[in-house]
Amino acid sequence: MNKIDYRKIYELLNRHEILDYDCGQLCSAACCRPDGCYDEDVINEDYLIDDPDGEMGIFLYPGEEELTKLEDWQSHSVEDAEEVGFPENWGSVTFVSCGGKAFCKREKRPLQCRLFPLTPHLSEDDELSLIYFPDDLPYRCPIIERQLAINEEALADLLEACRMMLEDERVCELIRSDSERRYEEEQDFITVYPK
Ligand code: SF4
Ligand code: SF4
Repeated sequence: MNKIDYRKIYELLNRHEILDYDCGQLCSAACCRPDGCYDEDVINEDYLIDDPDGEMGIFLYPGEEELTKLEDWQSHSVEDAEEVGFPENWGSVTFVSCGGKAFCKREKRPLQCRLFPLTPHLSEDDELSLIYFPDDLPYRCPIIERQLAINEEALADLLEACRMMLEDERVCELIRSDSERRYEEEQDFITVYPK
């Protein structure tokens, strides 16, 4: 199994921000609120809570924990992958709890934080693209809601990072199964890059 060089991916993705300003200003950084205290105007009233005690978890891709486990501003918990809806071939999955934006070392934040509000998608022809994160969240991300233009350089780097991640069959399996589910459920999604 090919191992992903997360250090290389972090370096690649540290080169460009997705917008020319801090998008957290638009929503008081809703996606970095472990306390779930979202601004009223970004709360998703339609969000169905199936686990009222659960926090919004950030998962780490397989092997990414090797890079982040020494970060004292993050705490990690390990779950059985299948039990929490990840592919069986992951074995286990590590979740991060981060304490919020005030504690974040941005250049060391997990890959999932770097990809949001996008997510990788594989078409039925196996073409890789980036789409707006299409699943329901307790808040509405203004970038998705307003379809704000994302920097082309950042998009190209994110797509390249996802290509590198596909080298690992476990990540490939996750991206493929998420993509297939979208087709099976006839979920609406918007392709951002490449158009
Ligand atoms: S990605 Fe979306 S939800 Fe997160 S800080 Fe930026 S605008 Fe807000
Ligand atoms: S690690 Fe940083 S970017 Fe990720 S959710 Fe926490 S505060 Fe936000």
